[in-house]
Amino acid sequence: MQNQVPRRRVAVYGMGGTIAMAGVGGVVPSLSAAQLLDAVPGLADTGIDIEVNDFRRLPGASLGFADLTALAVDIDKRLASGDVDGIVVTQGTDTIEETSYLLDLFHTAPQPVVVTGAMRNPTLAGADGPANLLAAVQTAAHPGSRDHGVLVVLADEIHAARHVRKTHATSGHTFQSPNTGPLGHLVEGNPHFLSRLPAARATLDLTALHTDPRVALVTVVFGDDGALVHDLAAWADGLVVAAFGVGHVPQGLVPVLSELAEHIPVVLASRAGSGPGLSSTYGFPGSESDLLEQGLIRAGFLDPLKSRILLWSLLATGHDGGSIAEVFRRAGAYGQG
Ligand code: ASP
Repeated sequence: MQNQVPRRRVAVYGMGGTIAMAGVGGVVPSLSAAQLLDAVPGLADTGIDIEVNDFRRLPGASLGFADLTALAVDIDKRLASGDVDGIVVTQGTDTIEETSYLLDLFHTAPQPVVVTGAMRNPTLAGADGPANLLAAVQTAAHPGSRDHGVLVVLADEIHAARHVRKTHATSGHTFQSPNTGPLGHLVEGNPHFLSRLPAARATLDLTALHTDPRVALVTVVFGDDGALVHDLAAWADGLVVAAFGVGHVPQGLVPVLSELAEHIPVVLASRAGSGPGLSSTYGFPGSESDLLEQGLIRAGFLDPLKSRILLWSLLATGHDGGSIAEVFRRAGAYGQG
């Protein structure tokens, strides 16, 4: 008698985005998750059982922390039931680099959570939504995708949520991981992982979420007089500074940043797009070593957008001072010697 291989099961959560948009004179999110799945050629042949959840129908730009934490709670419950092999989230690509990392921080189960979207809406020739959705479902159903945290799959590439960035406004290959490259590729419908990330991934306790802190991100610019940073003192619970290069600001900003860092966590990230912030190479006023000395927290390899998501998540779960710096050391991958 032949052994029966159990059918694999994936739960798909629709959040909206270009992948679900239709209409004339400007597309808007209107297709249900079931309609998206019906439009995928070859999905039925995979033998994967699909369960559909219409969670939100919004552009990526209009999703907020409340939508994503509600999604994280729902996914957590669904995975704890043990009867799904993986999760797919479809959403607007505009905010995937932030939302996927937020989900990653609160994802502790072994099953894969795969986020996907589309750059060309369903009314256009060469719409990429169906191919991306099929690849995401195949990745989510595959046992080899377990224990990687949250993944982002588009254009047959598999990226880690903690590294992926949207790098082009219109290209189908917009999602890149500049510091690491993709973790793997979809080949003839199967995920192939070519690299593994270090096991230490920062994760937080979903049940500890209890506030919605206001965390600002300020990009330091040429000739910056610090007026924007100055105004934050009145309302921000936390700040991420996207600084020049390896973590530099004009020297005139040092007093205001130093003063802010006495009251709220201020994270020092690089606006360069890839590579780490440093700690002890430069010594001038406004250099990375000066700012860290003033109490700013080093983001390391975490880019400014992901740093803001991490800082929000830490404050929302009740972390402060030393524990924030400790988690950044791990998440920014500079505490590894
Ligand atoms: N504006 C769209 C959104 O994020 C872009 C996309 O889905 O690719 O909803």
